[in-house]
Amino acid sequence: MTRVIRVGVVGAAGRMGSTVCDAVAEADGLELVAAVDVVSAGGATHGVTIASDLKALADAKCDVVVDFTVADAARTTLPWLALHGMHAVVGTTGFSADDIDSFRRAFTGSNCLVAANFAIGAVLMMRFAEQAAPWFETAEIIEFHHNAKADAPSGTALATARRMAAASSDWAPDPTTHEVVPGARGGEGPAGIRIHGVRMVGMTASQEVVLGTAGQTLVIRHDSNDRVSFMPGVVLACRKIGSLPGLTLGIDSLL
Ligand code: NAD
Repeated sequence: MTRVIRVGVVGAAGRMGSTVCDAVAEADGLELVAAVDVVSAGGATHGVTIASDLKALADAKCDVVVDFTVADAARTTLPWLALHGMHAVVGTTGFSADDIDSFRRAFTGSNCLVAANFAIGAVLMMRFAEQAAPWFETAEIIEFHHNAKADAPSGTALATARRMAAASSDWAPDPTTHEVVPGARGGEGPAGIRIHGVRMVGMTASQEVVLGTAGQTLVIRHDSNDRVSFMPGVVLACRKIGSLPGLTLGIDSLL
């Protein structure tokens, strides 16, 4: 008989974390055994008390811990999980390349998956943008998020730009010589690909990748209209992380 995977959630009171708690509680083969958050400590989710201390994850003997918090918090949580031999499934964004390297060094005895986006449509959007990159000499990314998002640009936009930059080095220079309003051309991402961040009441998470070459443009767009869009990817990662040694970036290899 397959053993039930014991899952803890850090950021359990947040928008994503609370949705993850619901998804884990409903998923076959997963059991929600611990929940941690700095707010709502003492509250409960699916019969599990929300604790304020990571120790609750060890006390509950978690196999896998899902983290949807902020980069600053995850920089402490992830090495702690590695030290305690628990697998980590991380949706938090805002990490630098140095952060990713330090997670790679930390997770030697247990495994870690960091994904900027767990929605299948977004995974495909990134793949299509990477495939399209060599055929176009100009490309810009516009990401749209809810008005409480802390980091900019989004992890998805940055991951998309990194993959497009790796797929092609042949990009036209920016023609702008005079930026009347500073920032009007957006942020300069990898290979000079411009990234524009929109923060808007009423939105969840969307992205457009716009590519252009002589006489034509290609627009690849993805919308997450509800946080449930991320849950099949998170649940899949919880099920598979035990067999993915070291650090895995993105959920492509799980699909
Ligand atoms: P949120 O602000 O609603 O939730 C974050 C939660 O983390 C809060 O409840 C907060 O109290 C908690 N927290 C902060 N520091 C903590 C700590 N030290 N210990 C325990 N809990 C702590 O934010 P959100 O909208 O749920 O997003 C969370 C993260 O997930 C963000 O980085 C966001 O960009 C990312 N995100 C990723 C995906 C994806 O598919 N990978 C999708 C959506 C959002």
